[in-house]
Amino acid sequence: MKAIRVHQFGGPEVLQLQEVEVPRPGSDEVLIRVKAAGVNPYDTYMRSGAYGARNPNLPYTPGSDAAGTVEEVGAAAGHLKTGMRVYTTGTLSGAYAEFALCKPDQLQPLPERITYGQGAGIYVPYATAYRSLFQLANAKPGETILVHGASGGVGIAAIQWARAVGLKVIGTAGTEKGMQLIREQGAEHCFNHRAPDYQQKILDATAGRGLDVILEMLANVNLGHDLKMLAHRGRVVVVGSRGDVQITPRDLMAREARILAVFLWSIPADDAIEVHAALQAGLKNGSLQPIVGSELPLASAPEAHRRILEPGALGKIVLIP
Ligand code: NAP
Repeated sequence: MKAIRVHQFGGPEVLQLQEVEVPRPGSDEVLIRVKAAGVNPYDTYMRSGAYGARNPNLPYTPGSDAAGTVEEVGAAAGHLKTGMRVYTTGTLSGAYAEFALCKPDQLQPLPERITYGQGAGIYVPYATAYRSLFQLANAKPGETILVHGASGGVGIAAIQWARAVGLKVIGTAGTEKGMQLIREQGAEHCFNHRAPDYQQKILDATAGRGLDVILEMLANVNLGHDLKMLAHRGRVVVVGSRGDVQITPRDLMAREARILAVFLWSIPADDAIEVHAALQAGLKNGSLQPIVGSELPLASAPEAHRRILEPGALGKIVLIP
């Protein structure tokens, strides 16, 4: 089968398309035929060797989000049947490949209305957004949230979750196309995070009251200012950060506000069960509709890794084996 292999940490060029053996499932494992693999920013941190204790052993195949069909089920791998449509919450062998080995609990049913491309953009973005909004920030219907960086995978997911439960959503993007996309997804107010004074415009859109919740995709740039935009008892959830930042603690004190942070890979089992139930409901009733901005062939994995770190996000980048 074709698979992307990484033999040394480095830039996007270390992602090599190679011919490798199709893995055989052990008795408690499942082989899936990958129809689409989602590209997440953390795939790039891992590839460059910058993911600390979670760096993989070399060589490895990147990717954790995929959608496809069950190809082969180990004797003790439970209820799964050949041909079932599934999406992954992780894999044993890597998602950027024609086939991937998984544990049964890394597979969730993919509802008929969701395409494979969309399925590859479910777990990391939607679970992160759900956990941030509901399990950490405890957002309630009627509250106003800012999705600070709403045009990418997690941001679009956050808008859809928020709209489904009656939160008021303000979103930001860095391009006209991104603003258009988040408006279509249901953000009531959209601002460009590259425009001067956009934070003041956000505050004006809340009539000066401030935001109950901010989901922050680039904390190293924005966290200090986020604290000045919070309402009394507001919460910021740090979702993404690529460096250090200075904050003024008095901004928190004056508002009795909180800074929270999410790390999807440490989600407790009970909370994961809740996320999966909410995901199945939302995917089936149509309130969750992953947006695929671009589909690229598997061989273009280096291009996908370059693009995902550039400005101009429009939903998910997906690789097609
Ligand atoms: P993505 O699809 O690449 O989207 C990145 C988003 O950040 C885009 O909306 C982009 O907007 C926005 N952005 C760029 N510059 C910004 C700025 N100055 N202020 C605010 N937003 C800005 O990535 P993603 O999958 O949504 O992930 C977002 C971040 O969360 C990444 O850093 C990722 O590593 C992290 N993440 C963390 C977890 C966790 O467990 N903590 C899980 C998933 C993701 P434009 O391109 O329109 O400028």
